[in-house]
Amino acid sequence: MFENLSDRLSGVLDKLTRQGALSDADVSTALREVRVALLEADVSLPVARDFVKKVQEQATGQAVTKSVTPGQQVIKIVHDALVTTLAGDDINAGELKIDSPPAPILMVGLQGSGKTTTTGKLAKRMTDKMGKRVLMASLDTRRPAAMEQLAVLGMQIGVDTLPIVPGQTPVQIAKRAKQQATLGGYDVYMLDTAGRLSIDDELMEEVAAVRDEAKPHETLLVVDGLTGQDAVNTAENFDSRIGISGVVLTRMDGDGRGGAALSMRAVTGKPIKFVGLGEKMDAIEEFHPERVAGRILG
Ligand code: GDP
Repeated sequence: MFENLSDRLSGVLDKLTRQGALSDADVSTALREVRVALLEADVSLPVARDFVKKVQEQATGQAVTKSVTPGQQVIKIVHDALVTTLAGDDINAGELKIDSPPAPILMVGLQGSGKTTTTGKLAKRMTDKMGKRVLMASLDTRRPAAMEQLAVLGMQIGVDTLPIVPGQTPVQIAKRAKQQATLGGYDVYMLDTAGRLSIDDELMEEVAAVRDEAKPHETLLVVDGLTGQDAVNTAENFDSRIGISGVVLTRMDGDGRGGAALSMRAVTGKPIKFVGLGEKMDAIEEFHPERVAGRILG
């Protein structure tokens, strides 16, 4: 019984006594295991297929360094390819464009994805780590409880929230948030848009109207990292209709193997900027491709 991919690959490859270069056959054998492991980690089939093809091209014919076994060598090639795919060309994953105050950040996503929690986490992070003055506003006009939730969160973490004025539309609230942020000398204002249980035209039109009004410097999509392929479909949908600048994957403290991250990056081309790692307000960190690669490899 092999426990994880690293062990499986070593098991398959190290039995063969190799000298010189990795042969096509060795690499193919190993990559069959890689493909299964990716699928088990909830990477979508086309993404897993493309990835394996890329690795195959890189690995075939590579000289096996004397100090390592063929198994270790393939693991390293796979690991490095995972990191490259996950990272894309972003060197600074967790950086937000918030230089020109007051910088609007639009938070979008489905209900229950962790959007409001993430809004609070990022606001706290910018306040504590970067010394920014942040204002948060809830635009969830259909759910008064959601507006209250943000106000309570703000009090808990010491971040100001825009006072609730009943009867205003999301666009009106966005306007008021900008005014207050300008007058109050805030560096950043965050607009926590309404979520729905599924994507519908009404939601998208509402978010698009807010986007047109606020002209956000960042539009962050919050998605549940445990939902695998659904998370990727949600991201494609929001990106084509709203245009997102980055993704926050929540619930990465859960049991998922992180495959959604790989599909997300490969399919949408948008950077994963942060990952949520729990319910506490400091349970968020910048996206580290190596950590997710390690998790996928097991
Ligand atoms: P929203 O409807 O998208 O605004 O979702 P909420 O922010 O209200 O979050 C829904 C639930 O998910 C809450 O119980 C949060 O505490 C929880 N949650 C949010 N982010 C994370 C995370 O990264 N990890 C875990 N374990 N729970 C989270």
